[in-house]
Amino acid sequence: MASARKTTKKKSILTDKSLDFLKHYHNTHSPVGFETSGQRVWLDYIKPYIDTFLTDAYGTAVGVIQPQEKFKVVIEAHADEISWFVNYINPDGLIYLKRNGGVDHQIAPAKRVLIHGKKGIVKAVFGWPAIHTRLNNPEAKEPQPKVDNLWLDCGARSKKEVEALGVKVGCVVTYEEGFDELANGHYIARAFDNRIGGFMIAEVARLLKENKRKLPYALYIVNAVQEEIGLRGAEMIARRIKPDIAIVTDVTHDTTTPMISKIVEGEIACGKGPSLATAPAIHNKLLDFVSNVAEKKKIPVQWRSLSRSTGTDTDSFAYANDGCPSVLISIPLRYMHTTVEMLHRSDIENTIQLIYETLLALTPKTDLKYL
Ligand SMILES: [Zn+2]
Repeated sequence: MASARKTTKKKSILTDKSLDFLKHYHNTHSPVGFETSGQRVWLDYIKPYIDTFLTDAYGTAVGVIQPQEKFKVVIEAHADEISWFVNYINPDGLIYLKRNGGVDHQIAPAKRVLIHGKKGIVKAVFGWPAIHTRLNNPEAKEPQPKVDNLWLDCGARSKKEVEALGVKVGCVVTYEEGFDELANGHYIARAFDNRIGGFMIAEVARLLKENKRKLPYALYIVNAVQEEIGLRGAEMIARRIKPDIAIVTDVTHDTTTPMISKIVEGEIACGKGPSLATAPAIHNKLLDFVSNVAEKKKIPVQWRSLSRSTGTDTDSFAYANDGCPSVLISIPLRYMHTTVEMLHRSDIENTIQLIYETLLALTPKTDLKYL
């Protein structure tokens, strides 16, 4: 842990304070629809670097620099994390769930979770039949975890006991695991998707402030809620801000681990820089602009193509209002939607740098006209 930090410390744009924020923010639970505690941590960190902030009805938080300027640029990430909902409590006190976002049933057995109960956190585990008992199955076929055969065991042995702990239908459930560091600059966490985005846009704000860089437009640093259930927070805030340009950041798959088809998914790897994508929603001229900045500043990028939808908040911004030139800058990530999402520190730094340098190069006069 310490050695990794020592070797990269000198030339790193990340400070000890920002790394502490990175850990604390990732360890704060922020399930879809209940993002407030994460948003508080994020706003507290970003406040010294912004002029003002706003929040909306569903909890999207926005730091604003130079709100008096008419031309508006957004940099955006999403604040929510995939999770589960308590759906049914059986007479034996076992708890059945519903997904809240694309949480992965295959990784669930034997995981520890936190139920966000009415009286506070209740610890529980995903139960699963022991290997011995499973093998007695007459079909000699291993049962596969599915939403309807997964249950939580919190130690209560009746529905009444569950309810006495403050656990009710509708309570949200998150995995327990948090941030950690592996060899060679690799980090793991439960919700890099997309808390790392919130971290990176906050760092862009910090760098602008600390390097005393003044932009010729208003900058809106948006940490949107409810991305994981359909890009909803971005949809709401895009209508409110009505930006002229949106730069969205999210995670994308590292496709170089086993059992992923590069023919289908393209080739992207952790440690080789942020990923730029083409798609109809991604504005060609803005994309060229970002790509030129990367080339000029010698920031490595990796390319992929998307089609009808980018599956990110880019779609919400692009198609909001009268159409907003939008671009997506993604950070490669292994094991998305598991509790051990993994990324590389150099990609964090290069993605921050690419967003930062793009902002410095943009002006309200940047020509983005197609015709
Ligand atoms: Zn996601």
